[in-house]
Amino acid sequence: MADELTASKAAYRFTRILNLFAEYHGTPRFPIDIVALAKDAANQFHWSDPITKVQAESIKNFEGALIPSEGRRDWLLLYNSNLKSEGRIRFTQAHELGHYLLHRHQRDSFSCTEGDLINLETDDATIEAQADSFASTLLMPLDDFRGQMNGSADFDCLGACAARYGVSLTATTLRWLKHTEHHAILVVHRDGYMNWAFSSGPALKSGAFFKTRNQTIAIPNDTLAADMGVSHERTGVEIAARKWFPHAPADFSLREMKITSNEYDAVMSLLVLPKGEKVWKPKDE
Ligand SMILES: [Zn+2]
Repeated sequence: MADELTASKAAYRFTRILNLFAEYHGTPRFPIDIVALAKDAANQFHWSDPITKVQAESIKNFEGALIPSEGRRDWLLLYNSNLKSEGRIRFTQAHELGHYLLHRHQRDSFSCTEGDLINLETDDATIEAQADSFASTLLMPLDDFRGQMNGSADFDCLGACAARYGVSLTATTLRWLKHTEHHAILVVHRDGYMNWAFSSGPALKSGAFFKTRNQTIAIPNDTLAADMGVSHERTGVEIAARKWFPHAPADFSLREMKITSNEYDAVMSLLVLPKGEKVWKPKDE
């Protein structure tokens, strides 16, 4: 048994096959057809328990599931029929394919919630983080992603990448934040309060983060995020960094962007700070 298979090894294996296929046939490399890949996965690894069906199903409270047939001879990959966007469907299918490749001998079956599919971890400690890591690596290969972004840091470029890879803007932005050198923070909010936030590594080190897990944080006044009159601002406006980070130097500004997402019934705000500046509370640094 290939028990040493990790999320990145599994994703690279498919990436190599997809690169060769697209090159040989001259067909588009993206977005990836996960259904075809899932049904062929057992064949690639010479396993005898293939995924035989990928289908939409009304599965309450879950976005995706992976269920074996009796005797575990084959597997059924399900995604929620209420999912409206192609991007979320593709990511969900890739996440369940990740469970199939990496974890199917560890559990009887898998059912995954919206929370499982938005991975805010930076390591692959849990099986949910591993399945998300597999999905992101497969759907948005870093070398291609870096080339597409070409140093940019705005929703225009991230939106173009989301369209190229056929995934949601949320998944695309998280993938970017985990690897960018920019000091950037994604804040997802609804009705004036943060649902969750995620900082790039450099932003985290400069003190630019919000601890949304253990406290309720309101969206600050006089920000683009708080302005009900603006629903989209893809390239950003300069605002005083103190509006978001009270301990930032007075003359220090950041670029704020905004997208109102129907997909998640939430607003996404992206903050990009100049490199090198710190916004720590003095005693916390
Ligand atoms: Zn899962």
